[in-house]
Order: sequence, then structure tokens, then C-alpha cells
Amino acid sequence: MRLIHAYLVILDISGYTHFITQRTVSLLHAEQIITELMETVIDLAEHPLQVNKLEGDAALLYREWVPGEADVAKSIFEQVNAFFPAFYACLARQRENRANCTCEACTNIDNLALKAFVHAGEIAVKQVRQFEELAGEDVILIHRLLKNHVAARDYVLMTEAARAGALLSMETLQKHREELEGVGETHLWLTDSTQMRTLFDGL
Ligand SMILES: [Zn+2]
Repeated sequence: MRLIHAYLVILDISGYTHFITQRTVSLLHAEQIITELMETVIDLAEHPLQVNKLEGDAALLYREWVPGEADVAKSIFEQVNAFFPAFYACLARQRENRANCTCEACTNIDNLALKAFVHAGEIAVKQVRQFEELAGEDVILIHRLLKNHVAARDYVLMTEAARAGALLSMETLQKHREELEGVGETHLWLTDSTQMRTLFDGL
């Protein structure tokens, strides 16, 4: 087992559970839609972030990081930023390809949205055969971010550690507070995918 500093990212496709019914065709199409979206996003995730694990409609990614390496942290945010247009391009493609299907999954495709969560901290990396398992309080913390009160459809929610590591300007981000289970009141930063682009124009 290794203890390392790392950036952790969770990509979460939401809107899925709302339109799933028991009907087999709908469920099958919903799975296909999500899989294709997930693959599109993951195809982009070779560098610097690596996919560690798929968790249903979500993916956990990480990158080892030495505190102070702001350039690496910025490249991680650039990668996160690039997931959004790829996701929505894939969504548009699937909407077109599935225009003839009247099932609930295909007709509600526009309910799907992408959310990204970013945190930086210390994690334990455990090698189990060919798999790397990530553990530690910071891994738990990033998962807690998924249960939040953000009203936006698609967004990037990050911790102060993630923001500070990349030296992102506070003025370009929205303050957000969340009472996290087992963690307590936590100050976070929020940005939507459009704001993300302006954020990076200034880098
Ligand atoms: Zn369908």
C-alpha cells in the first residue's frame, strides 16, 4: 500500500434514475445511452487523470500530485472542462440516432446531465491483482459531495483544497456551503461548464 497526495475527480451522469421504468426496452436503452456517454468521457481520460473505477452512472478518476504542482492541477481542471463538450456532443449524437424510438429512455435523453466533483488530498493506494483500490478519508469526502443542494443541472463542485492546488481565482467561482455527512459544514466552490471555459481563458 502506498500513501500519496492526489487529485480525485468523480464524474456523475444524472437524470438516469428519473426516467427508468421496469419496462425492459427502456431499461436496455437507458443502459446503452449511459454506457456510450461514459465511454465517450472515459476515452478523454487518459492524461493526466486516470479512471480508477466505474460506479454505476459515475466514474472515479485520480492523478498522483505533489502539493505545489499548480500546473499539473490546472491541467487536471482543463481535462475536467473538456469532459463537458464531449458529453453533450455524444448526447446530441444519440438523440439523433434514437429519434425513432419512443421508449422513455430515448425520449427523455435531454434530462441527462454531467456533474464533476474535484478534491485534492491524501489517499492510500492498494494494489489488488490488476486493480488499484483507493482508500482514505479524502476518498470518502469526495463521495459525500455527490449528495448536495446544488440547483444547477451541470456543474463542477470542488473543495477548497482542489481550488487552492490549481491556484484558481476565487472571483471566478461561486461560494457554496454544504453540510456533509460525517464531515460537517464544508466550504466548497461551484462553477458551471460555461463558467469553466471563462475560467480557463484566464489561465
Ligand atoms: Zn429507446
